[in-house]
Amino acid sequence: MSFAYNNVIGAYMFVTFLIFLPYVKGRMKEKAQSKMRADRLVAVGRWLCGRSMQQAYRCTRLAIEEAEREGEAGRRALAHAFNLMGNIEIDLGQPGAARVSFRRAREEAVRTGDTEVQFKVANNMALLHHTAGEWHSATQQFLLAQELSRQEGMQVPEVLLSMLQINLANLHLDWGDPERTLHLIDAYHLQNHPEAQVRAQAQLAQGMAHLFLAEQSERLGRSEEQAAHLQQAAQMLEQTYVLPPTELFYHNTRCALEARLLAHQGKYDEAISLLSQRLEHLTEQYMDGEIDLHLWLGKLLLKRPSDCAAQRRTAQLEAEEHINTALELMDRWGKHHLRVEALELLAGLYEAQERLAEALNLMRQVAAELRGQAVDPMGFTGLFHPTDDLLAEGSVQAEWKQRVQLAEGMARRDALTGISNRRGADEILPGLLHQLRAPTQSLHLMLIDLDHFKQINDNHSHVVGDRVLRCLAQLLPEVAGLDALTARYGGEEFLVALSGVHNEEARRVAERIRLRTMQLNWDIPGLRITVSVGLTRAVPHDTVSSLIARADEALYRAKNSGRNRVVELPPSVPVAARSVAAEHA
Ligand code: GH3
Ligand code: MG
Ligand code: MG
Repeated sequence: MSFAYNNVIGAYMFVTFLIFLPYVKGRMKEKAQSKMRADRLVAVGRWLCGRSMQQAYRCTRLAIEEAEREGEAGRRALAHAFNLMGNIEIDLGQPGAARVSFRRAREEAVRTGDTEVQFKVANNMALLHHTAGEWHSATQQFLLAQELSRQEGMQVPEVLLSMLQINLANLHLDWGDPERTLHLIDAYHLQNHPEAQVRAQAQLAQGMAHLFLAEQSERLGRSEEQAAHLQQAAQMLEQTYVLPPTELFYHNTRCALEARLLAHQGKYDEAISLLSQRLEHLTEQYMDGEIDLHLWLGKLLLKRPSDCAAQRRTAQLEAEEHINTALELMDRWGKHHLRVEALELLAGLYEAQERLAEALNLMRQVAAELRGQAVDPMGFTGLFHPTDDLLAEGSVQAEWKQRVQLAEGMARRDALTGISNRRGADEILPGLLHQLRAPTQSLHLMLIDLDHFKQINDNHSHVVGDRVLRCLAQLLPEVAGLDALTARYGGEEFLVALSGVHNEEARRVAERIRLRTMQLNWDIPGLRITVSVGLTRAVPHDTVSSLIARADEALYRAKNSGRNRVVELPPSVPVAARSVAAEHA
């Protein structure tokens, strides 16, 4: 009986198995396909990046959705997809959104132990920090990338390693530390890889030459220093010659720099003929660096002292032709970052020729371009959701790029402290806030103000005051973590934005900032530094100003209740927006 019973059960189970087999197989296949789909979508997204940004964006969104659907199995693809998304968002001029994507990529990569993605993310975040002006954080991220690259089992392609080193060196160059820049390149193991070494050196050489030329023009009149800088610039340029002639970008840039060098020495004719010869070499399609050559040729033709009116007229005509060619190339190849410079140059030329109506017209265009940047430097308004319509227009992409590039040249770094300045923070905050629409995200903001700082300046001098500001700026990313946004928001007021942490953690960070500040060792008798911190959490209906206003109100209460403390204000407390710069009583 029991035997028969077991048989029946067995048969029943067998039949059930047969019935459900196709379903189970279907599910398994679906799962496998779906995982492959996420991977494939990432690959396609990557491929699309060089071709159509709007399609790359959509494809990567799909990859993220697909990988999220997959749960555990999709985590690897998810890390890759978020990293790619961050890159696309950088290209679309959304640094805030890119930060959140990179942070997500890092989380997933840490979870799956994927050091390669962690390496890439650290490198990407470093570049983001660099453009946001956060020098300390950028350095830390680069060092983290370097550390990851040395881990067991990591096989970072040589080209990525050399990029890392170049980026780090560029960071120091940008920070005005050429010594350290050179040291970095010399010390690095690129020496084992001659080609990468040469490339890195060439890029730096040009950067340094640029720096020396810029310094030289600022310090006109101090002839000894001037001569020394020119000498250094010339030596730097020498190094570029070792690159093969097919490296057009390096050679075109070198040529433009050499011409500048000659012009600085008053050798205009030589400079002009150098540039003309170089341009004759370049035929047919656009070559990297060609726009620069045309622009400099135009500039130098206009600058060269002329003996007579006829000679001046000829030079002006030639210059006009070159500047127009440069403008055409910019339009055709979407390289708009030099547009303002070219238009101004042309306007100056028209003015000299007394073509005043045309000059005025051009200056209006320049003003419009500059106004566009000033009102909305990164073109943020309405562009957080790159809608299909918006992205469908190719010109919008070019516009984005132009704005990003223009904005990149602007100073977002606070010169004293090496963290972002208010402008940098204002560009990033909207993107961080926007991400709150996803239910799992969070954003905390704190404003940190030094207590009785005026007295510190009065009692210990401004030099000490500046030192305190610098130390605090360095402490913030250390305590708040590598992915936090840290900025000097006003004179002695700092901002920290934390994405993706719980309330508790945000409170801990705020409290640690307060404690660590107290514990800083100054070696100055009687110097005691404390900060007050206003903390708040963002909610989806917040705007940047409502968020800041709430943090500011929290800070105000911290000041009023005795200073050297953290006050948190929940989002439910209504706060009338008031000027952040308002004095705290
Ligand atoms: P409270 O505790 O209420 O914040 O008092 P406080 O003295 O810190 O505030 P107050 O706003 O009266 O003074 C801020 C001071 O910060 C005044 C200004 O001289 C100083 N400060 C602003 N920027 C700099 C800077 O770049 N370097 C130095 N050394 N001091 C600065
Ligand atoms: Mg203060
Ligand atoms: Mg203040």
